Amino acid sequence: TSERVFNFSAGPAVLPVSVLEQLRDEMMCYPGAGASIMELSHRGKVFVEIMEQAQSSLRSLLNVPDTHEVLFLQGGSALQFSMIPCNLLRGSNKTAEYLVTGSWGKKAIAEGRKEGDVTATFDGSTTNYDRVPKAGDYQTSSDAAYLYYCSNETIQGVQFQSEPEAPAGVPLICDASSDFLSRPLDISKYGLIYACAQKNAGPAGVTAVIMRKDLIDKGDAGLPGYLNYQNHYEADSMWNTPPTFAIYVLGKITRWLLDDIGGLEAMKALNEEKSSMVYDVIDANPNFYKGHAQVDCRSKMNVTFNLPSDELLSKFIKEAGEHKLASLAGHRSVGGIRASLYNAMPREGAQALAQFMSDFAAKNG
Ligand code: PMP
Repeated sequence: TSERVFNFSAGPAVLPVSVLEQLRDEMMCYPGAGASIMELSHRGKVFVEIMEQAQSSLRSLLNVPDTHEVLFLQGGSALQFSMIPCNLLRGSNKTAEYLVTGSWGKKAIAEGRKEGDVTATFDGSTTNYDRVPKAGDYQTSSDAAYLYYCSNETIQGVQFQSEPEAPAGVPLICDASSDFLSRPLDISKYGLIYACAQKNAGPAGVTAVIMRKDLIDKGDAGLPGYLNYQNHYEADSMWNTPPTFAIYVLGKITRWLLDDIGGLEAMKALNEEKSSMVYDVIDANPNFYKGHAQVDCRSKMNVTFNLPSDELLSKFIKEAGEHKLASLAGHRSVGGIRASLYNAMPREGAQALAQFMSDFAAKNG
């Protein structure tokens, strides 16, 4: 059938219905262009305007200061695991520091290690990645190449509630893939912050990189061209053919956030409301639902928890499906349940899940 469900997928993930409707309406012919967006040259006036609009609405949503550039790249967030150390670590004789709070930080440091000296300044594996460090839990050298962290670990469901502090002169680097645009940020604190689009900002295919302009030219000329930020900067993110369709959708999402939601403060409040509905049920049934993250590190985007047995877990997923609550199985590496409540998950979806969880615990607890 073509009936839509509440989709709790961790990404690619739910998109706003109003945006999908616009895509449908413009699919055969982008207004005035005589063709669909997918059929237009990236150098043509129509697409160049779409790209500029996407960049400028992203800038206004996040209040990006003039000191920072917005790039639209490909290769997902995974390529940033390499591009960052290729440009900012390789050949520097410095050490890059990583706060490893889950699976994605672990992957990032492994890629960094191929380019130079790295160290895990904080390693959450000792408590099975159930928390992020507090300010006093780690010490960053004032000579580090950069301090890297992942603001929201999508698999474990742990989130920094505010950014860690890097010593003066040490660029703070953030993988914000799974909580980008979910709350306001002070971009001036970051050397570089990036996010693949397929959770909160659009379909897979484009990765937004916001970086301080003085870091753009640090890559050496021997790097493969695509990996050098300078090339993308000089070519206005058109060093090669950009993912035009994904950028077009990202532009629509930023307009939706500005016009329909009312900006990132409003988005943050809604995300807090939605995630609280689900966490409240976990807390009300402590002998039935076991949350993965420590309470003060809980993610507003990915709610992770387990049930008393594998049988109940399978039953939960099956019955949830019958209630049109889809894609709730946790990542294969940790199991359990993961409910992703990204920006586009409506309040009704979180409400339906919370109600289902309450009823399920009452019947099976
Ligand atoms: N970082 C985080 C926090 C993620 O959630 C993901 C994707 N799930 C990635 C990096 C990797 O993104 P991609 O698949 O676009 O390379």
